[in-house]
Amino acid sequence: MKIVRTISEVRQYVKEWRSQGLTVGLVPTMGYLHEGHQSLIAAAVKGNDRVVVSVFVNPKQFGPAEDLASYPRDLEKDAALCEATGAHLLFHPEPSEMYPQGHCAFADVEELGKVLCGKTRPIHFRGVCTVIVKLANIVMPDRMYFGQKDAQQLTIVRRLARDLNMPVEIVGCPIVRETDGLAKSSRNAYLNPEERRAAVILSRAIAAGKATAQNGTVTPDEIREIMLRTLAEEPAANVEYVEIVDSQTLLPVDNLNGPILVAIAVRIGKTRLIDNFTLPE
Ligand code: AMP
Repeated sequence: MKIVRTISEVRQYVKEWRSQGLTVGLVPTMGYLHEGHQSLIAAAVKGNDRVVVSVFVNPKQFGPAEDLASYPRDLEKDAALCEATGAHLLFHPEPSEMYPQGHCAFADVEELGKVLCGKTRPIHFRGVCTVIVKLANIVMPDRMYFGQKDAQQLTIVRRLARDLNMPVEIVGCPIVRETDGLAKSSRNAYLNPEERRAAVILSRAIAAGKATAQNGTVTPDEIREIMLRTLAEEPAANVEYVEIVDSQTLLPVDNLNGPILVAIAVRIGKTRLIDNFTLPE
């Protein structure tokens, strides 16, 4: 596996592969890779002849008061994981390679980026959309892989690809969890042992919501109520939102017909964690 830092090197590799008629999968990440990322890379290896993993902590998706500077990084470990999982190329650009002086073009999805996490992270999804379009234009993959862990992001990327006629298939992959249920996340590294124990409340709320939803004729409000009650059992949990929305429009629903996303965001200490489930699963 090769590690490259420039756009022109990526393009050279992909051009060579294309000339041999090979298909290409792309897994965009911010690094500090874990088994969640690894499941995406494995899916890409299975579905394509060649796989590019990007490791780029995208400054455009962090607000001024967010954790850009402290976001965990470990390129050596990331490269080992990519190589062991069968990736062919790791793209690790400097911010100046992706956003040279004077960069001013952005991609955005308007309302879809203003709800759920967008309420407290107003520029986040504009940054996500922009880097995804840029990475797609750099690699020109057949398929891009995203985790259901970031459900709003997955909905937004699907819409971006559809509305901008991006010639790429968006593949969603299931949430990978720790043995106690906590969704794997690079940000779990911020949690001290006490917070790590408290963080299991997110997946307990998800399990409670899911069990209630499977239990016949309930309303979105009842699911929300049960989940809020579960989260209230953990004093260290500060709930940002528990929302039950249409999976495609991300707007609140008043019944459980059709594809539904139940999404939560909770702060444990200074760490903001998210989790979700969908109906039907
Ligand atoms: P990140 O590095 O956090 O930007 O994540 C890169 C990709 O990995 C995104 O598509 C995430 O949704 C996905 N991902 C992160 N954590 C998990 C997880 N626990 N299970 C599945 N996918 C994940």
